[in-house]
Amino acid sequence: MRFSEIIGQQEAKQRLIQTVKNQRISHAQLFLGKAGYGSLPLAIAYAQYISCKSKSENDACGNCPSCVKYQKLIHPDLHFVFPVATTKSVAKNPTSDKFIEKWREAFLENPYLQLSDWTKHLEIENKQVSINVVECNEIIKKLSLKPYESEYKVMLIWMPEKLHHAAAPKLLKILEEPPNKTLFLLVAEDAEQLIPTILSRLQMLKIARISDETLFNTLSSRFDLPQEKINNVVQLAEGNYANALKIIDKNETNEQHLEYFLNWMRMCFVIQKEGVMQELLQWVEETSRIGRENQKQFLAFALRICRECLLLNYGDEALVRLGANEVSSVSKFAPFVNSANAVELTEELNAAYTEIERNINAKILFLDLSLKIAKLIRKKPEEALSS
Ligand SMILES: [Zn+2]
Repeated sequence: MRFSEIIGQQEAKQRLIQTVKNQRISHAQLFLGKAGYGSLPLAIAYAQYISCKSKSENDACGNCPSCVKYQKLIHPDLHFVFPVATTKSVAKNPTSDKFIEKWREAFLENPYLQLSDWTKHLEIENKQVSINVVECNEIIKKLSLKPYESEYKVMLIWMPEKLHHAAAPKLLKILEEPPNKTLFLLVAEDAEQLIPTILSRLQMLKIARISDETLFNTLSSRFDLPQEKINNVVQLAEGNYANALKIIDKNETNEQHLEYFLNWMRMCFVIQKEGVMQELLQWVEETSRIGRENQKQFLAFALRICRECLLLNYGDEALVRLGANEVSSVSKFAPFVNSANAVELTEELNAAYTEIERNINAKILFLDLSLKIAKLIRKKPEEALSS
């Protein structure tokens, strides 16, 4: 990872480069800031810059033997420590080394990865991960080796917040009596979760949020989206690239859901027209095959849209939580959700959501639901008064 690959952060980059130029590289440093600000890629770019054999004023060369290995995170003097847990393939004594391939994969795919991305990558989203005692013994073992190729041996510790309390004294001892020519780079999000005695051993570099302007320019160059949309994303992302990626991903899902939902409602409304029943059956068939999680997500989305429609019709516009283009797509459908059917519609969607969790036959469920909605959606407010 070269400095030039990192979004913004000019000030932090300059400070790091200065430490190399002035030969004042502190042996234990803390990169403190949200993952989405770029703290991890900055730490790696720093290590690559130090190790580069033909660095320029402001960046590593990217081509020397050291850089080539760094770009793939396979340099023999670059060691990683990160939180892990037992998995299907590693059932006992999990350590970072056992997951190094996965780690490289995850980082190279997205250098702005957050802890949740990491556990997702390992398929252990619901597990507690930690940096454990076995790991700290591994660190000691590695530190007893001489650097292979570089002047420095680099030990990069990601998310030291997850250091197991029993492992903390070991790490502290290592930091107190560091071996020669070893560089500890710790990358953390929250200083308050770090053990104070460890924190006091570190030189801290605070990584600030990415400026809105820089984030806007980066997103514009990487995503083929209209300016207005990118502006929206920037406003919500809080200078955090990882957030921005997630918002874009969610927006795309929402747009797909909305189209799918409105098409469904249209079929339900005109179900008696020729050919529509066949079309609806095909929709049911398709929907039954998207998997339970997606079905739940879609129904939750449908519920949200019905609620927003009611607000659009009767309520305070200020309460409506729809994006600008969602409003324009939804406004035509909104009048169909009204006082005559809102309660039942919501009940039916809720019931379907619960039933999906019970592993019911999705095809039957979505067909029944469609027929119920076809009836409900034709109800008008006057009918509610008379019935
Ligand atoms: Zn180089």
